[in-house]
Amino acid sequence: MKGLQCPKALFLNVYKPRLKTPFSAETKALMTDGRKFEATVREAFLPAIDVSKTLGPKFAAYAQFTKGCLAKEGDLTLFEAGLEHNKVLVLVDMLKRIGNCYELYEIKRSTQLTPSILNDAAMQYVVAKNVLQAPIQSFVILRVNEYDYQITDISQAVASLAPSITAEIEQQLQILAQGKEPLIATGPQCNSPYPCDFKNYCAGLLL
Ligand code: SF4
Repeated sequence: MKGLQCPKALFLNVYKPRLKTPFSAETKALMTDGRKFEATVREAFLPAIDVSKTLGPKFAAYAQFTKGCLAKEGDLTLFEAGLEHNKVLVLVDMLKRIGNCYELYEIKRSTQLTPSILNDAAMQYVVAKNVLQAPIQSFVILRVNEYDYQITDISQAVASLAPSITAEIEQQLQILAQGKEPLIATGPQCNSPYPCDFKNYCAGLLL
């Protein structure tokens, strides 16, 4: 998703992650709040296999571990399922298999369904469609208030975004294959939809 915000951020994230600005206290607090919200939602979907609990930061192993779980028969629920296709790894907040169909859930502490949430879900859908080769429905779980959340079916919106996201993935893979840092000046994209991790580097503060 970084590449949708800025191709240079994608490049830096892959080739020069050490240049990231450490998270601010405010960002850390938002992340903690997001994790708490996600944990609350997850409780309603137990029993489930939590891939992140098993593997922690070993992201390279997520897809293989998930494949092993999906090889078993029967309905199941996975938290942070890793799916990988065409060198793109996505982590799905919640993946459910019911019969021969799959459901993808994106869990966000936001109260609004934003374009970036839809793009995120569409990226997951594109990769999942290739990996799972089965009917897929997409859902987003958003916060209503401190105690409640609501589940919305976004399958249609996500499927209609799939062609442009597929084209975007191809473009991003080309940028990475070229191995050259894109020349992009700072601008509004540095804060939208999220504050970029590389703002200090691009502002010349790390030189
Ligand atoms: S700080 Fe701005 S220009 Fe630099 S990588 Fe991030 S989004 Fe791109």
